[in-house]
Amino acid sequence: MLACPFSTADRNAAMDRPQTNLAELTAAELEAAVAALGAPAFHGRQILTWMYARGVTRFADMTDLPAALRARLADCCTIATPALDSRQTSSDGTTKFLLRLADGRQIEAVYIPDTPAQTFCISTQVGCAMACAFCLTGKMGLVRHLTAGEIAGQVRVLAHETGLAAATFNIVLMGMGEPLHNYDATMKALGILADSRGLGLHPKRVTLSTVGLLPAIEKLATEPLMPNLAISLHATTDEARSALVPINKRYDLTALLDACRRFPVSRRARITFEYVMLAGVNDSRDDARRLVRLLHGIRGKVNLLPLNEAPGIPFRRPDEARVDAFARVLAEHGVRVSVRKSRGRDIRAACGQLIVEGGRKSPGQRLADQLHSSRA
Ligand code: SAH
Repeated sequence: MLACPFSTADRNAAMDRPQTNLAELTAAELEAAVAALGAPAFHGRQILTWMYARGVTRFADMTDLPAALRARLADCCTIATPALDSRQTSSDGTTKFLLRLADGRQIEAVYIPDTPAQTFCISTQVGCAMACAFCLTGKMGLVRHLTAGEIAGQVRVLAHETGLAAATFNIVLMGMGEPLHNYDATMKALGILADSRGLGLHPKRVTLSTVGLLPAIEKLATEPLMPNLAISLHATTDEARSALVPINKRYDLTALLDACRRFPVSRRARITFEYVMLAGVNDSRDDARRLVRLLHGIRGKVNLLPLNEAPGIPFRRPDEARVDAFARVLAEHGVRVSVRKSRGRDIRAACGQLIVEGGRKSPGQRLADQLHSSRA
């Protein structure tokens, strides 16, 4: 048996040998990894196809690889895949997946059918450092960033569980976490998912939602694989936004919207502005009129998210008439607007309702057990 040439990686407890986790690697890195084992590099691309296009992670099942290479891979490599702890399906078909990572931490990912597309809502962090006032995840703080392999791994698991092929689903980075706070891993994951030998997920099928980390938005604007951009706006004055979305104290509305004006939005695309509606806080006609003015000159559309109430969240959801009146002001001024229909509320899979419930987890899991992720 050859010694494993890789220096990185987790310990293999059973064999006390370092293991390389191939789930973290791009096609080029997989080629290099295979070459380091003395095999032709193209086998690296075949491994990517097995993992992402066929959902196969057992080396023994990768039947077009030489038997000797399969044995060597099994000896010194792993393909870490988030384990499915449980799944719950709502009456509207929304399915919430509770996933366990290699270190035992848990995250949630959600499948939302027919919106009209099939959509996977994916997490980018365990917890979140952004501390938005109405978001339960924000209350918990950041536990850790997800790796690229853990982000892409959620997509592998959901594609496998739903049986959906690549060209048939969209991805929203709207689960737990702030994707631009975990920039490199998020972009690496999108690169892996976009590879045509794997899932071939075109970046235009991906929407990245952010609180507005300005330097990262500027950087995103230069990426070759640029996802659609969604901005969590939520307020129309700096005073109100700073109270709801604390990062606004560093990157204020003017700076954020200027960055949006500069953002290279393709011809048919628009920036989505998410606006959580909080009764008596940001849902007045004056707010709607200010929002119209703020968005002037931006190729955007507004997505109103009536608050999903949750224990510990000191805000109320406005009634439907109030939401409609707000939407009407926007529409009358030529701003595209939609009201996000809340999906999966009966299984707490809706925005701000996801919660990793405690009680049946190992002691080391207490913090993660308290975490919540949010989406609509
Ligand atoms: N961190 C990123 C993505 C995660 S959340 C961001 O903030 O954009 C996706 C959306 O759900 C965000 O717009 C967020 O503000 C919103 N959200 C969070 N909690 C909510 C709740 N309780 N009700 C409605 N929307 C909520």
